[in-house]
Amino acid sequence: SKREGKAGHHFFEPALDEQARMRREMELDLRLAIRDGGFELYFQPLYNLRDDCLQGFEALIRWPHPRRGMISPAEFIPLAEETGLIVQIGEWVLREACRIATRWPENLTVAVNISPRQFAAPGLSSTILQALGQSGLAPNRLELEITESVFIANIEKTLSALHGLRDLGVKIALDDFGTGYSSLSYLRSFPFDKVKIDRSFVRDLTEEGNAHAVIRAITTLAEALGMATLAEGVELPEQCEILRREGCQFIQGYLLSEPVEEHRLAGLIGDYAEI
Ligand code: C2E
Ligand code: CA
Ligand code: CA
Ligand code: CA
Repeated sequence: SKREGKAGHHFFEPALDEQARMRREMELDLRLAIRDGGFELYFQPLYNLRDDCLQGFEALIRWPHPRRGMISPAEFIPLAEETGLIVQIGEWVLREACRIATRWPENLTVAVNISPRQFAAPGLSSTILQALGQSGLAPNRLELEITESVFIANIEKTLSALHGLRDLGVKIALDDFGTGYSSLSYLRSFPFDKVKIDRSFVRDLTEEGNAHAVIRAITTLAEALGMATLAEGVELPEQCEILRREGCQFIQGYLLSEPVEEHRLAGLIGDYAEI
């Protein structure tokens, strides 16, 4: 009826306006945060099960918003990607992560997430070279985490970009493995240093189920291709034991620690040294 149509119209349009308004506001706030240094890095341990030692930390961005409290990257990275602001944010992450990592023991590495837009933008190698040069961090202590969505653009270009990054001496990990639609072909086309098995595979890991068979298949394949594997989202001792048994070399997850601020890392590094 006419009345419903009108009601629907009124219900619908302001909602869209409101969404657009919130987006514009968030974009403006992002620009201010870039200008004013409004982001923080948290760090989560990456643990080597095979050698029983800490391998390093993944840097994960946080946005303490002046009015809205702590905003998680899942909420603002997509908008940063769409607007291209991710390039500047990513430059800050690289500089900051390298700078902080130089304060750690020299055997520890730092992993940094590189989003698809940032990967495709010109100047990524020079940003990395600058971050390494200014901090003095050895290139082999920096690991870049990319997702297979970078391959969607142009496989030839992506492969040559990856080889270019590899030539800088940094390590390259394939993040969120198993969530894309043709992960296996990407594994074959580039020698990643590490494959990070998505936590959706780890979540179902119990002695009873068959999820461990999937883990075994991935670790066997990765190993055959000369790549290490890391399981994400490990929360339970049982999951850890199965992963160890199935040949997974590294783990990451709340079992070890949630991501923490830099000032809490010394304690974590100390804890693992004592294990
Ligand atoms: P990711 O790269 O897959 O990072 C792992 C995410 O899993 C992190 O969420 C981490 O806090 C969470 N996590 C770790 N262990 C566990 C666990 O045991 N259980 C569960 N349920 N979750 C766990 P976070 O920090 O919220 O980051 C979300 C995503 O945002 C990241 O996923 C990454 O894609 C993106 N991101 C974070 N920092 C950056 C950054 O500096 N640059 C870019 N481009 N993306 C970033
Ligand atoms: Ca990651
Ligand atoms: Ca991941
Ligand atoms: Ca992810």
